[in-house]
Amino acid sequence: MTYYVTTAIPYVNAEPHLGHCLEYVQTDVLARHHRLRGQDVRFLSGTDDHAMKNVTAAREAGEDVAAFVAHNGQRFADLGDLLELSWDDFIHTSSDPRHRPAVEKAWTLCAERGDFYQKSYTGLYCTGCEQFYTPDELVHGLCREHNRPPEHVTENNWFFRLTRYTDRIREVITSGEVEIQPVQKRNEVLAFIDSGLQDFSVSRPMARAAGWASRSPATATR
Ligand SMILES: [Zn+2]
Repeated sequence: MTYYVTTAIPYVNAEPHLGHCLEYVQTDVLARHHRLRGQDVRFLSGTDDHAMKNVTAAREAGEDVAAFVAHNGQRFADLGDLLELSWDDFIHTSSDPRHRPAVEKAWTLCAERGDFYQKSYTGLYCTGCEQFYTPDELVHGLCREHNRPPEHVTENNWFFRLTRYTDRIREVITSGEVEIQPVQKRNEVLAFIDSGLQDFSVSRPMARAAGWASRSPATATR
């Protein structure tokens, strides 16, 4: 069986910093360790190009989004040589031709199973975090992370029925079919599931994304 290891894929709203280097080297150590033990290893990394953060940062820099993303994305890819990383692949999600068909396949499979539905949603949205918050998650009305007030945003989005899978997710973890290490993290995940999972938004309107997005294949009218 292939040992598969991946880094997180960073937003490219800025150039990489030391924290990214640390993560890449740690992942590289794992990949090399398993190769030395004779295992077949696939070590993957890449960039998350379609984040709203990237659009905002490009605007602030007065640059075209695609050019801004390509420049910063390349700086991340360059760490491969600089740090002598042994990754097998590095995927830029906006420009790698393999990415879009894979996303469309995943979307279509979910859509065919009835996992998506549309809902108009009004909420407090932090562009820094790229997520909606409830009022009680804020501190004096401000995002904890960014220390600024979120925007009131109303939009019609596609939601994924995560609630439909609550029992199944719980079962694969408790049975050991999916192993989470260390055990404290496993318990945190189980406690999170027991606190009640929510369906979550998997789209954003083209207008808010300033056209910097992949159009969802099952939603040709949007
Ligand atoms: Zn925030």
